[in-house]
Amino acid sequence: MEKKKIKILIKLVGVFIILNIVLIVFFTLIQEKKLKVVFLDVGQGDAFLVQTPSGKNILIDGGPDRSIVYKLSKYISSNKKKIDLMILSHPDIDHLTGLIEVLERCQVKTIIYNGVKDNHPYFYEWLRQVKDKNVPVLVVNGKQTIEIEDDVYLDFFWPDQECQGQDFDDDNFYSLVFNLRFKNIKVLFTGDITNKVEEELIASQASLDSDILKVSHHGSKSATSLEFLDIVTPDYAIISVGQDNPFGLPSYRTIFNLKTKGIKVLRTDRIGDIILESNGEHYNFFQ
Ligand SMILES: [Zn+2]
Repeated sequence: MEKKKIKILIKLVGVFIILNIVLIVFFTLIQEKKLKVVFLDVGQGDAFLVQTPSGKNILIDGGPDRSIVYKLSKYISSNKKKIDLMILSHPDIDHLTGLIEVLERCQVKTIIYNGVKDNHPYFYEWLRQVKDKNVPVLVVNGKQTIEIEDDVYLDFFWPDQECQGQDFDDDNFYSLVFNLRFKNIKVLFTGDITNKVEEELIASQASLDSDILKVSHHGSKSATSLEFLDIVTPDYAIISVGQDNPFGLPSYRTIFNLKTKGIKVLRTDRIGDIILESNGEHYNFFQ
């Protein structure tokens, strides 16, 4: 009798273990694939890492110094160090410098930039690395949509003119403006554009409507007009800005405009890295 009980008990335990394994496998299989965007705290500059549901890494700008690779190692396992797509919004040093280090230390598969030339040693160093590493470059000028993978797209809206090889006085004006689109969720990246660009974008009737806005030019008063916010209608605004920066950014006017429109503001100088996760229908922020 005792032996029988033990046998039944062993069988029950066996069934319990198998059931658990089946459940774990089942839930792993049906687990939602998510998109992740990390607004990296790089001080006074911009650097954002996008990790797609299939595991691609997209780096948008590299911040003002070479610490970016260390910051990326928190999110990309060190043995891989693969950047599928590097995007340079414009060649100002607070966006470009870190990308030189990334080219040196990581395997970069493709680059997108606006083609604008900058007469700065860091720009030439970046260009030399691109050539040395033989990384394919796509210059985007004008409206264009690029499919990254199923359900993940980049919709480019700006600049609206041929810029390749040109050296402009105001690089900010030609910053790439684009949406990262995952199913129904959109994040608008604006580089360092000015009010003038915002006006031209509004006039062009570009479909700028987005859930999250990366605020232009670190919250400078030279952008983020009320009219622009009326078109973008974001729920959240991200400001990438250095703590106690000498420029007094973000400006009072920008914060005022965002608050006036009821937009929630998240700042890297106050929060550190800001992490967005989305299943394409909803999104959450983590710190
Ligand atoms: Zn900047």
